[in-house]
Amino acid sequence: MSNKYGISEIELVKIKERDKLCVYCHKVMEDPRSGGLRNDWATIEHMNYLPPWNNHNTVAMCCFSCNSSRGKKKLIDWFKTSYCADRNINNETAAQPVKGFIKLYRDC
Ligand SMILES: [Zn+2]
Repeated sequence: MSNKYGISEIELVKIKERDKLCVYCHKVMEDPRSGGLRNDWATIEHMNYLPPWNNHNTVAMCCFSCNSSRGKKKLIDWFKTSYCADRNINNETAAQPVKGFIKLYRDC
């Protein structure tokens, strides 16, 4: 079974287990159902700005704040924004899944 992005529920569980902190800013994320600040909510991040979004190489968990700041920007373009500069978010400081993704997909 897979959701609208073509990622299986099994794969999604693995991704949620792997990414307990935001893969970009490393904050502890809240379950949206538990309330808390919206900016701290855990969201599904499609690191590719285009599909495929079907596996742990292209999907990660990040906080609502980072997800909405990035929007539809390419990762490499988003890293140049003041949001990322202020928080020291870049391809060196991002979590391993992001680094792996950047290695796999050059134009990301
Ligand atoms: Zn974040």
